[in-house]
Amino acid sequence: MNRRPVLDQGYIELEEWMGGDEAVIRAARICYQSAAKTPGADERLIRKLLQSEPKHNTVFEHAVFRWHIKCPIFVARQWMRHRVGSFNELSLRYCIADRCYYVPAGVSEVAAYRAHMEASFDLYERLVAAGWRKEQARGVLGTAIYTEFIWTINAWSLMNWLTKRLDKAAQWEHRQYALAALSIWREVMPVTANAFAQGMLRPLGLEDT
Ligand SMILES: Cc1cc2nc3c(=O)[nH]c(=O)nc-3n(C[C@H](O)[C@H](O)[C@H](O)COP(=O)(O)OP(=O)(O)OC[C@H]3O[C@@H](n4cnc5c(N)ncnc54)[C@H](O)[C@@H]3O)c2cc1C
Repeated sequence: MNRRPVLDQGYIELEEWMGGDEAVIRAARICYQSAAKTPGADERLIRKLLQSEPKHNTVFEHAVFRWHIKCPIFVARQWMRHRVGSFNELSLRYCIADRCYYVPAGVSEVAAYRAHMEASFDLYERLVAAGWRKEQARGVLGTAIYTEFIWTINAWSLMNWLTKRLDKAAQWEHRQYALAALSIWREVMPVTANAFAQGMLRPLGLEDT
């Protein structure tokens, strides 16, 4: 299954992908017009490519992934700082916002938080009904409301995002999306993804499943 639930109402889904480990091998081997001579040679080559310095990074750019993400706006805002990739997002200029917002677990004052979010949606809907433009009425909504976007990214840039957003310094909510993406990615591009994960999960104190 290429969709994982994340947070209370979000998810990440791999909609489509191209290339995978085979694309990396194809790109790497064209340089020498070579082919694998022994079983496991391709896997060893990918591990070497990931470990070598300086990196022969462009070979990883031939594997491409299109994700569909539903996350709080504050997570999306961090996500879209990652410039190498393509984004398209649901527009609240054209669509009415769903009454759908993130509520953190294990915190105090949840009732007050919910009441504030509900009141902001009440006002938003009142303004729209009163003839306000949706693009202006949305100003009363908070950054915890959910948005949706699609994100197309190559494997090299995906690893850059994972490295930064799996890190303990990243916001916990964003890390949950990175963990879910990593688990899907490991299913579709296992050699590269597992080599990447083995190198980075343990130093972060995360379990390598
Ligand atoms: C824990 C954490 C805290 C953060 N806090 C803040 C914050 O407080 N404020 C804030 O503004 N941002 C913050 N950021 C965002 C951060 O500065 C980066 O914008 C974000 O992580 C994207 O990383 P990136 O540039 O590597 O990715 P991408 O934009 O996808 O770029 C990928 C790579 O391409 C190269 N590249 C892309 N564009 C250029 C360029 N113009 N010049 C040179 N090389 C380029 C770089 O090698 C870069 O690593 C934070 C990020 C993290 C992970």
